[in-house]
Amino acid sequence: MTTRKKIGIFGGTFDPIHIGHLRMALELKRQLGLDEMRLLPCHKPPHRDAPQVDSAQRSEMLRIALQDCPELQLDERELQRDKPSYTYDTLTELRAELGEQVSLVLCMGEDAFAGLPNWYCWTEIIRLAHIVVIARPGWAIPELGEARDLLNKHQRDAKSLDYEASGSIVLASPRLLPISATEIREQILAGNSAQFLVPDAVWNYIKAKQLYR
Ligand code: ATP
Repeated sequence: MTTRKKIGIFGGTFDPIHIGHLRMALELKRQLGLDEMRLLPCHKPPHRDAPQVDSAQRSEMLRIALQDCPELQLDERELQRDKPSYTYDTLTELRAELGEQVSLVLCMGEDAFAGLPNWYCWTEIIRLAHIVVIARPGWAIPELGEARDLLNKHQRDAKSLDYEASGSIVLASPRLLPISATEIREQILAGNSAQFLVPDAVWNYIKAKQLYR
């Protein structure tokens, strides 16, 4: 069996990126022994309301946040497609670019995984990538239904990320800081500071551009 290059994909609206996202991505990268961890800001989320801040500015905050963090990479490909940001399209592109041998590791919270059966071409996703499901307090994968069936069929331990390029579901419990982007937006709207919840450089950008007011 071969050990192959493993590339983590962590998508989100990042409205705004905060230290909960960043720390989690870093710890997951280490726990799973990923060679790369890419953060992909979503341009047009298909499954939730439009973000408050446009994709160029959300992406700029990510770029600023990652400036001093060579372990995490920004991948802006979803901004380049002027249509809903379907994960299926993103993984298809990555597969074509990176080849069949690379292990693609799509990371998502339990909340997102529970909703996976509503995603565009969802049954294809496990053929294109592995899925790492991140435990989130207050959430659980439903006991019945298509997401549970998919988990039952594909659940493996983390070693399978080395052996195959796609096809496994791995459960992970990285440390989660109790921070939410929703709460950050609410605090700023109420006139409160978000300092120390986001990197300093991101907080300076939010203030300079008067975002979330
Ligand atoms: P919102 O409050 O706007 O819904 P969110 O952070 O939950 O924000 P996204 O920016 O789309 O929404 O989240 C990107 C990813 O980060 C998701 O997979 C989500 O499960 C995960 N995530 C959200 N909050 C945290 C946190 N505190 N620690 C680690 N991961 C998180």
